[in-house]
Amino acid sequence: MFAPTLRDDPAEADAPSHRLLLRAGYIRQLTAGHYSLLPLAVRVRAKVIAIVREEMEAIGAQEMLLPALHPAEPWKRSGRWDLMGQEMFRLQDRRGADHALGMTHEEIFVTVARELNSYRQLPQQWYQFQTKFRDEPRPKGGLMRTREFTMKDAYSFDADLPGLDASFNAYQGAYTRIFERLGIAALPCEASSGAMGGSDSTEFMCPSDVGEDFVVHCPGCGYAANIERATSVLPATSDAPGLPSPERFDTPGVRTIDDLVAYDAPGERQIKTLVHILDGTLTLVLLRGDHPLNEQKLRDATGATDVRPADPSEIQDALGALPGSLGAVGVSLPVIADEALRGRRDMFTGANTDDVHLRGVDVDRDIDVGLWADLREVTAGQRCVRCGERLEIRRAIEVGHIFKLGDRYARALGAEVLAPDGRRVPVIMGSYGIGIERAMAAIVETHHDDRGIVWPLSVAPFQVAVVPAQSDDPAVAEAAETIYQALRSEGIETVIDDRAERAGVKFRDVELTGIPFRVTIGRRGLAEGTAEVTTRTTAETTKLPLDSVLTHLQ
Ligand code: ATP
Ligand code: MG
Ligand code: MG
Ligand code: MG
Repeated sequence: MFAPTLRDDPAEADAPSHRLLLRAGYIRQLTAGHYSLLPLAVRVRAKVIAIVREEMEAIGAQEMLLPALHPAEPWKRSGRWDLMGQEMFRLQDRRGADHALGMTHEEIFVTVARELNSYRQLPQQWYQFQTKFRDEPRPKGGLMRTREFTMKDAYSFDADLPGLDASFNAYQGAYTRIFERLGIAALPCEASSGAMGGSDSTEFMCPSDVGEDFVVHCPGCGYAANIERATSVLPATSDAPGLPSPERFDTPGVRTIDDLVAYDAPGERQIKTLVHILDGTLTLVLLRGDHPLNEQKLRDATGATDVRPADPSEIQDALGALPGSLGAVGVSLPVIADEALRGRRDMFTGANTDDVHLRGVDVDRDIDVGLWADLREVTAGQRCVRCGERLEIRRAIEVGHIFKLGDRYARALGAEVLAPDGRRVPVIMGSYGIGIERAMAAIVETHHDDRGIVWPLSVAPFQVAVVPAQSDDPAVAEAAETIYQALRSEGIETVIDDRAERAGVKFRDVELTGIPFRVTIGRRGLAEGTAEVTTRTTAETTKLPLDSVLTHLQ
């Protein structure tokens, strides 16, 4: 077996899942955002996939497998060839035709759905496990945010909106069961739809200090929403002492980035509001070439020192450097505000702004915190508009996301069916995603201790590790082998550590790799006919007669 555990914490990793998956010999980095999964990780991944597959089949979804390399044409027809910007990996074939590596599959599933003819064939639920490619501006945290990852993506096709609601609810239920079985305490949260478009969307958020999202949660009524979305929770006037008053915002009613995206106002005003929301100093405003705005007016309105027209690639670069939702603001505004990054980098690090680890500050992470701090301040401690309870804010990892898409893709790509009244209507779609490797990382984030990973039984790479304490003692080795074979023949996934190592080293590796049960065969126990069973979660050890180990573990 190849499970190259490391004695010490790898220097490059700070998120616990990143550190532990490296140390316990599950993953190795090829380059930033691309990881090789070693044998133990492949086993866990297969378990996660099996659970997801079971729950997909249980709601009647059918597995397919669509290509990972896409021609540009369907993406151009949906409008997302341009919209996806730099996050999309693009390439040309030998004839010079444009292609993309799939970052999601709405367009491609719709090309298959064109073959649907009648409402009688609906609903259809289709899903796949497929590699997605996204040129993330900042891959990080090991498996948490990579540039190539497996997604379970599912798509529903219905004849009408009530049908879509029923499909959406079925996935919502399936996702709740999936995350329960994976041991992920995921909170369903109201979310924005981002580049997918559409109406309702729910994110499944796993609370964790290393999460990159912030979730607003009401302990009173259970209201939960991504902070990007949680606009309605703000009361008209603030009664919380020490909190900023609404007047501090330049534009009444606009308090979060989502509001701002929706707010139809002159560009200067929008930028000024953005600066207020972020509580930042604007240093640079890049204007699209064809912008209608007056540079001097902008300089006056925003206090920015540098306001100038820029070409599309410079704007793309600036957008890529901004955290996700700021990028969204940048796109929706006629101008791109690069304030945040430059301003904050200066604040954290002084002048040299490109070295992200300058003075021990992880600028990538701390900038995120800095940018969000003001938004959090606005929302934390505010009262829930539904029940009046004080809201809580927590960091969370987005492990799944489900969307009601409507007919946008079917219209753009021509997927129509015959309705009961004889008209041809576009099919109504939903899309539903879970990141498989990110789910693995989230499990480790929430199931580990200072000795290593503590896998829930449902996803552990092996359930039992048999450890002969003295491998050089033939009697011990033989008894261990017998138990190992007996466990395996009962269908219990078992590994034996027959390396010529000290018992302490082997124990440490079983703990580090997170295998739920350890069966120890030692010279002394063997003499009295016993073995020890140690449970990883509780660290409790039970001494058992050799012949009852099997029944104990079944
Ligand atoms: P994020 O906000 O973290 O960038 P996203 O909203 O872009 O994620 P979706 O398009 O909603 O992601 O994709 C569905 C799921 O795929 C996510 O909920 C997440 O579990 C997973 N996922 C997305 N991006 C990545 C990535 N770069 N690495 C690993 N998993 C990812
Ligand atoms: Mg993303
Ligand atoms: Mg997201
Ligand atoms: Mg999402």
